[in-house]
Amino acid sequence: MRVLLTGVAGFIGSNLAKNLLDNNIAVIGIDNFFPNYDRALKERNIEELSRNPNFKFQKVSIEEELEKVSFEGLDVLLHLSALPGVRKSWGEKFYEYTNNNILATQKILERLKEESHIKLIYASSSSIYGETEPVPFNEDNSPPRPKSPYGVTKLAGEHLIDLYAQNYGIKATTLRLFTVYGPGQRPDMAFHKFFTMVHNNEPLQIFGSLNYSRDYTYVDDVVLSFLSVIEGDEWGCKMNIGSARVYSLGEIIEIMGEITGKKIKYDVVSDVPGDVNKTYADITKAIETINYNPEWDLIDGLREEYRWIREIYNL
Ligand code: NAD
Repeated sequence: MRVLLTGVAGFIGSNLAKNLLDNNIAVIGIDNFFPNYDRALKERNIEELSRNPNFKFQKVSIEEELEKVSFEGLDVLLHLSALPGVRKSWGEKFYEYTNNNILATQKILERLKEESHIKLIYASSSSIYGETEPVPFNEDNSPPRPKSPYGVTKLAGEHLIDLYAQNYGIKATTLRLFTVYGPGQRPDMAFHKFFTMVHNNEPLQIFGSLNYSRDYTYVDDVVLSFLSVIEGDEWGCKMNIGSARVYSLGEIIEIMGEITGKKIKYDVVSDVPGDVNKTYADITKAIETINYNPEWDLIDGLREEYRWIREIYNL
């Protein structure tokens, strides 16, 4: 099997590529090293992959130069590239979100229209739900109501995929990921920031309230969900990929205190537009469709992330 993976130098993409290569699946990885964080981290992410003869990397900006990528012999396209992050999606830089998240997705779909035997898996986000109801968020009963421009762009990607599937018969599955964590996590994400600040005895900034809560998903569970879709023959649906367990920021701080052995100081500051007070995934559909079975406990997953943080920063 041969897959094309977009966003391969990123957090989730690089973890997924490693697992695919371990399963003897050939990977063509593309990424444009978008400067949303330190390029050195992205290069580090693909360093080990690049030693595998089954891996080929191309530095490509999808919205501008996708024609440089050959689709010959491909079975599956895993579309993980995007500009992530809720807070920065307001204001003048919104065009970066439309370019990398909407336009890039449209370019991929235009190519797939000619090659409809290639199956597509799209990494969507819990951000498409906003603060909808009912909670836990259900794919069929909780209507998408994004609360941030980022969420709007991820939902636009889903809508585009639906259109191309209806009109050109593209086979696509959408995985709606709920806050992913673990080794490789982006430096702008809360756990990564918190661990480095705790290590340096700096007070954390808690936006909004200690009661804000999230459904957190360990990256290996996310990777396995992609693998199950690739290996299965169920295509065309949208599934939540979460852990179906919710932790408040207060609980997270307590767990991080246990893991680091430090007394954690924090300040609660006013919340940021776009942040939701709760995410919570109903994962019944993924369990029934792809035998999804999230295995990682938050405390074990956080330990792994802390180990990785100390390794990369030599702490
Ligand atoms: P990341 O920023 O670490 O990885 C994304 C990669 O895509 C980056 O390396 C970037 O350089 C690349 N990229 C962006 N635009 C590109 C373009 N136009 N052409 C080529 N490459 C491009 O982010 P991540 O956290 O690994 O997220 C991966 C995917 O998962 C994204 O689609 C994101 O929306 C989705 N997602 C992530 C989370 C999470 O908690 N991390 C949650 C829900 C959904």
